[in-house]
Amino acid sequence: MNDTMCGLVKEVNGPGDLVYHTDLPVPQVGDDEVLIKIHCTALCGTDMHIMEWDEWSQKRIQAPVTLGHETAGEIVAVGKNVTERRVGQRVSCESHIPCGECYFCKNGMPHICKDVKLFGVTQNGAFAEYAKLRWDCTFLLEDDITDEAACMFEPMGAGVHGVEAAEVNGKTVLVSGCGPIGLTAISACKTFGATMVIACDLIDEKLEVAGKMGADHVFNSGKCDLVAEVKALTGGAGVDAAIDITGAEAALNTDLKCLRAAGRMVSVGLPTRPITFHDMTDDLVYREIQFTGVSGRKIWETWEDFSKVMKGPYFKLDQVIGGRFPMKDFEKALEQIRAGVPGKMILYP
Ligand SMILES: [Zn+2]
Ligand SMILES: [Zn+2]
Repeated sequence: MNDTMCGLVKEVNGPGDLVYHTDLPVPQVGDDEVLIKIHCTALCGTDMHIMEWDEWSQKRIQAPVTLGHETAGEIVAVGKNVTERRVGQRVSCESHIPCGECYFCKNGMPHICKDVKLFGVTQNGAFAEYAKLRWDCTFLLEDDITDEAACMFEPMGAGVHGVEAAEVNGKTVLVSGCGPIGLTAISACKTFGATMVIACDLIDEKLEVAGKMGADHVFNSGKCDLVAEVKALTGGAGVDAAIDITGAEAALNTDLKCLRAAGRMVSVGLPTRPITFHDMTDDLVYREIQFTGVSGRKIWETWEDFSKVMKGPYFKLDQVIGGRFPMKDFEKALEQIRAGVPGKMILYP
């Protein structure tokens, strides 16, 4: 193994794209860490925000840092305290590195740890030939999960987590928003026994893919009365659960109206501005709607559930991958993303 490697570094605390290097030091594995030879890593919206230097990034990034957190690779070294991982195992990585000490970590909720550190954000990540990570943030991959599929756990796990929170077995479900996370949620709803999945979006092409990923009915909510369509399909009652991937005010209000009384509303999408509920009294309070958010992935419940979704008949990996590039050509991948090409872009070191 060489002492140096290639990688993509965020070099300045300010706006600016990543910089490709070929002479970065290979990380030295710590006592509780594993060293991973990276097979491939997907670009994330978070990486784009860090390059744009939004408010979120300003609070968390201390340049220089190697980005990349949606990844798959193989363990090539383990620290001296590591007994549960060994060289040769294929892994993906949980980007949320919990502290293990706070109330949430101690009560079975490490995914909402209050002192969480972030792989590829607050510490060097996986846009490189090698990355190191605390061993207990690595997820062992079964042989039938490909490297590219393994890169999807982190970004799309939120969709599966949303489906877990909606408890979809035997229920009718509305999934609002059909980007990669919404598509994953649709395939997870079907995998986990939803009786009917209704999907909506504003873009017809996305709805076509939603049908391929298992949606029983698709609607362009900009071109129809979605509430009326949902009521017609559910005997006038509304769906048992709604999963919102959009975080958009209009969609959230429509989702609530599509729910039956005592239905469950799960918010996955992140609003980027304050949201107004148009009729909270009738849409939510009087009808005893249960409203919950989800954050990241449950460790490791969501990962295990997502494995089942990937191996099931509904999830279609080729429908959520947008392109593949050698890491040194990452600028081409950025161009595709900035041009609005859908799907995840995957980089190979
Ligand atoms: Zn991500
Ligand atoms: Zn914690």
